[in-house]
Amino acid sequence: MTLTVRNPATGEAIETIETPGPDEIARRAARAEAAQRGWAATPLPERAAAIERFAAHVEAQREPLAQLLSRETGKPIRQARAELAGLAPRFRWFLERSPAVLAEQVLETDEASGTEQRLRWEPLGVVANISAWNYPWFVGVNVFVPALLAGNAVLYKPSEFATLTGREIARGMRQAGIAEDVFAFVPGGGAAGEALLAPPVRAVYFTGSYRTGRRVNERAAAHLMRVQLELGGKDPLYVTEDVSIGWAARAAAEGAMYNAGQSCCAVERIYVHEAIYPRFSEALVAEVERLRVGDPLDEATDVGPLCRPAQLEVLEAQVRDALEQGARLGCGGARLPGPGAYFAPTVLLDCHHGMQVMTEESFGPVIGLEPVANDEEALERMRDTHYGLTAAVFGADRERAQRILSQIETGTAYWNCCDRVSACLPWSGRRHSGIGATLGDEGIRAFAAPRAWHLRRPPMPREEAQP
Ligand code: NDP
Repeated sequence: MTLTVRNPATGEAIETIETPGPDEIARRAARAEAAQRGWAATPLPERAAAIERFAAHVEAQREPLAQLLSRETGKPIRQARAELAGLAPRFRWFLERSPAVLAEQVLETDEASGTEQRLRWEPLGVVANISAWNYPWFVGVNVFVPALLAGNAVLYKPSEFATLTGREIARGMRQAGIAEDVFAFVPGGGAAGEALLAPPVRAVYFTGSYRTGRRVNERAAAHLMRVQLELGGKDPLYVTEDVSIGWAARAAAEGAMYNAGQSCCAVERIYVHEAIYPRFSEALVAEVERLRVGDPLDEATDVGPLCRPAQLEVLEAQVRDALEQGARLGCGGARLPGPGAYFAPTVLLDCHHGMQVMTEESFGPVIGLEPVANDEEALERMRDTHYGLTAAVFGADRERAQRILSQIETGTAYWNCCDRVSACLPWSGRRHSGIGATLGDEGIRAFAAPRAWHLRRPPMPREEAQP
């Protein structure tokens, strides 16, 4: 089987690569199972040294890797560089924290009875990492680095839209001295992902859409596999009446349009206090109109093409639906002519929750605005979703923002910021946004299983004699 990788900015083929079929995937999984035992027996400092070599290799190759990421996914080159530069704090977090988080603990000892209770964190075995294309380095490193540090073997399937980046990741691992069977590259489409959901794989770490995540969960359930899902969102932002409008409009435009809106935690809908709605709308439209759409390899480009051309139709349908129901077009509104999957950055004004753009993930450069009369109305709208990844409030009053955000079921809450992830905090979604967490201490333990040790010295002859 083969897979052709295309440049979304031009539609041209970049490369066609061979992909393994289900039998070959099963053989790679069996080899990973055999190799994992040796890897798990390697002391943690040696595993960490290999990850440090991988990190150094990525650092040394930053520019060519950024160029490849940009060509393959359409990510503007400055943003591709930012993704690679943003890996350092993640490597640091995992390398510094893992020894403490995975350390064996003695929880109780009793000298008199000679008992001891210990907790040891052990690897799960072979784990599958089914990854996404929008931030292939970030979402990949969040999974395979702590998985390897904990002593697991990894079967790594990049998204078919980030296959060449995935191959570079696998090459980097090899260069760092990590065996091909310990970090096994499994390129391919959905069928390759599905083939990974069988023993000897013990756990699956999936990043992608709710629809596919649910399917993965159902498949994995048949084998009682551990499942972790990082899924999409319909992340709301509420702008209160006391903000600095220019700043808020700039930050909201970036939160909605960065990476052409193809971030799991992109701002997907904005509620604005009615006291500033006209001025904020105008400022936001001006900010979005200022964005330069173009060739992702051009240094000046802010917004590139969509990575998956099929998403153009989803965006067109959302815009059409909103306009038919009375939304006003602030700017954009259509795909751009010429080759490449470009959609004009779009602002839709006067939206409401009868419109798809306010309730269904857009995952593109399209944002809807709705005025609200007060905090209660904003809260009601923000909570009206099945998703629960992030929510944000822009405003002067921290207590007010925290009060609002505490009432929304999300893994992350932002006050005067958005669309950000930190290595030291767990990244998690609630409800349709996922199960489990990466990053933080939770994202290290996620790749280990606890073993409880109950140890007792043999009875003394004197004790034995007692009735
Ligand atoms: P998909 O769900 O389409 O794909 C995700 C991965 O699953 C890909 O590697 C895909 O392969 C694979 N896959 C597809 N079908 C199957 C199957 N039947 N069994 C197993 N694996 C399968 O999502 P996208 O790649 O389009 O990513 C976009 C989505 O990801 C958005 O909803 C976004 O919000 C979410 N996301 C969430 C993040 C978070 O941290 N919460 C981070 C990044 C993205 P292939 O691509 O080859 O089809």
